[in-house]
Amino acid sequence: MTHTTKRGFLQSGALMATGAVVGCATPVTAADAPATPFAVPATYIPIAGSTEQFPVRRIYCIGRNYAAHAIEMGSDPSREPPFFFQKPTDAIQVVLPGTVADHPYPTLTKNYHYEVELVAALSKGGRNIPMDQALERVYGYALGLDMTRRDLQHGMGDQKKPWEIGKSFDRSAPIGPIHKLAQTGHYTKGAIWLKVNGQIKQQATLNHMIWSVAEQISKLSEAFELFPGDIIYSGTPENVGPVVKGDVIECHIDGLPELSVKII
Ligand code: MN
Repeated sequence: MTHTTKRGFLQSGALMATGAVVGCATPVTAADAPATPFAVPATYIPIAGSTEQFPVRRIYCIGRNYAAHAIEMGSDPSREPPFFFQKPTDAIQVVLPGTVADHPYPTLTKNYHYEVELVAALSKGGRNIPMDQALERVYGYALGLDMTRRDLQHGMGDQKKPWEIGKSFDRSAPIGPIHKLAQTGHYTKGAIWLKVNGQIKQQATLNHMIWSVAEQISKLSEAFELFPGDIIYSGTPENVGPVVKGDVIECHIDGLPELSVKII
């Protein structure tokens, strides 16, 4: 055995002893979690009408999923396939119905935008999920905001750099409780709107989506293996715009409680 081979063997042995699988993060249940030097909090979203909470694994977002919004972002919706990005799980800011949550204006931006969106939460996953089986993966729905540092998103895009800093930052994903499918059914039409300081800014219906939730799940699962706990922000209608400190944002989707935040 050469030195290199032996070292490789010893490393694999050590990894096997800790239960790790090389090249893939292995989900660990509470019962067999290893001792750790510090705790990292997990992310949960309340489930309406339940004492259980929804554990968040990944946050996917679809871009430019309403034609009029795609046009205002400078693209041609008739030719563009769906595309996705992610936010970190700690972007979640839970906002309970009947409250106005303080939402801090983030650093580094001078053009902070709202995007009201329907969010689908999955309790089952899979790869290459056929469209006609996609909705079987949905556990429920929530109302969410995809908050965006628009100047950084566009600035990075102009430089052909990742736009992550514009989209994937702390508390960029305010969200209301998840409503179980069994209680609400699927959200395929109905009004979606957003007000700032009482004035309507965004207003559309969910059937204006270019790619339905079923199509989003199916397409996403071609690129990523989906798992229980994944949630999907399904895109925003047209007329996104800026907020400043002191503004109050109210969001609505028919059949879900309203979500409100105050920019501080
Ligand atoms: Mn969005």
